[in-house]
Amino acid sequence: MARAMNFNAGPAALPEEALDRAQRELLDIEGTGLSILEHSHRGKTYDAIHTQALALVRELLAVPDSHDVMFVQGGASGQFAVVPMNLLPAGKSADYVVTGSWAKKAAKEAKNVGKVRIACSTEKDKKFARVPAQSELDLDPGAAYVHIASNNTIAGTQFDEFPDTGSVPLVADMSSDIMWRPIDVSKFGLIYAGAQKNIGPSGIVLVIADKALIENGRTDIPEIFQYRTHAAAGSLYHTPPTFSIYLMRNILEIVKSSGGVAAMEKHNREKARVLYDAIEARPDFFTSPVEKPSRSLMNVVFNLPTPELEAEFVAEATKNGMVGLKGHRSVGGVRASIYNAAKLEWVQALAGFMAEFHKGS
Ligand SMILES: *Cc1c(COP(=O)(O)O)cnc(C)c1O
Repeated sequence: MARAMNFNAGPAALPEEALDRAQRELLDIEGTGLSILEHSHRGKTYDAIHTQALALVRELLAVPDSHDVMFVQGGASGQFAVVPMNLLPAGKSADYVVTGSWAKKAAKEAKNVGKVRIACSTEKDKKFARVPAQSELDLDPGAAYVHIASNNTIAGTQFDEFPDTGSVPLVADMSSDIMWRPIDVSKFGLIYAGAQKNIGPSGIVLVIADKALIENGRTDIPEIFQYRTHAAAGSLYHTPPTFSIYLMRNILEIVKSSGGVAAMEKHNREKARVLYDAIEARPDFFTSPVEKPSRSLMNVVFNLPTPELEAEFVAEATKNGMVGLKGHRSVGGVRASIYNAAKLEWVQALAGFMAEFHKGS
C-alpha cells in the first residue's frame, strides 16, 4: 500500500500514526470489547478521551483560565451564524474584516442575524491578494465584536499579526490557522476552527471563548446554540461526534509528543519556505497571486502561465502521487495545503516536480 502525498485543503492529511492507532483500536479499545464508536458518550472509556482532548487543546495552546474550550458541531459555517446569535444583540453592530470568501460568507450570514459593518474589504481593488494593515481598518469602538478570518484558505493569505481591536472583542475564524504556531489566546474574545483543516477529521468545531463574553451573550436564542450551554456541560450537553473527538485526541497527542506548537511552527515555516522558493525561482512560469507579506504558510496558492498548463500540472502531479493540488473551484490555479500533517518530504517532492515540469514545458 502506498499512501499519497496529500495536499488537500480540507478534509486534509492526517498523521499516519493517528490513523494507525485508530485502526489498531477499532474493534476493541482498551480491552473493553467495543469500538470507541460503540461506547456511550456518558461512559468511562469515552469520557477519559473527551477530557483528554479538551485538556490537550488547553495545554498546547496555553489557553488561560479566563477562556473556555468547547467542541461543537455544524462546521465552521455553522459558527458564521452562531457567533452573531450569541454575541450580536439588537441595537449593536459587529465589524467584519473581509479578506476572503469565508470571511465574506461569515459577514453575509451575520447580516441574517443582526447589524453588520464592513470594517475593511480587500476584495475590490486587490481581489483578496492581501490582508489589511491595522491602519486600514475602520473600526467602530462601540462594536459588539470584530470578526476576522485569520488565515484565508482559498485566497492563500494570513494575518501574521492579529489586529488590535482595543476593548472590542476579537473573534477569529482560525479554521486553517489553528495549532500550527503559538498564539496568545488572551487577545481573543472567541476563536473557532473547523477541525478538518489542521487538527482532525470533519464533524467537530473547536471553540475557545472568553468566559465573561459568552456568559454575557444573548439568552433569547435556543439553548442548543448558546455557547454557555456547551461550556457548562463540558461539551457533553448532547451526543458529541465521539469518533471525531477520539481521532482529534490521537492527533493532538502526536502534536504534543512532537514538541508542541512551537515545533510545529518551525516545521511549517521550513515547508512553506521550500515551496515559496520553488515558486520564486521561476518567476516567468510560477506566480503567486498573493502579496508577499500576506502569504499564508498553510495554503500556498500559485498560478502557471495558462489554465491549460495548470490542469496539466495537477494531472501530472497526481500521477506522481501528489494529490489535492487543484485550486479552489472559485479561483482556479494550484493550491498546496501544507498543514501540520503534511511532511517536509512531500513538499520537497512537490518542489522537485515543479522544477521538472517547468523544464519540460
Ligand atoms: C473550510 C473553512 C470554512 C468552512 O468550514 P466548514 O466546516 O465546511 O463549514 C470556514 N472558514 C475557513 C477559514 C475555512 O478554511
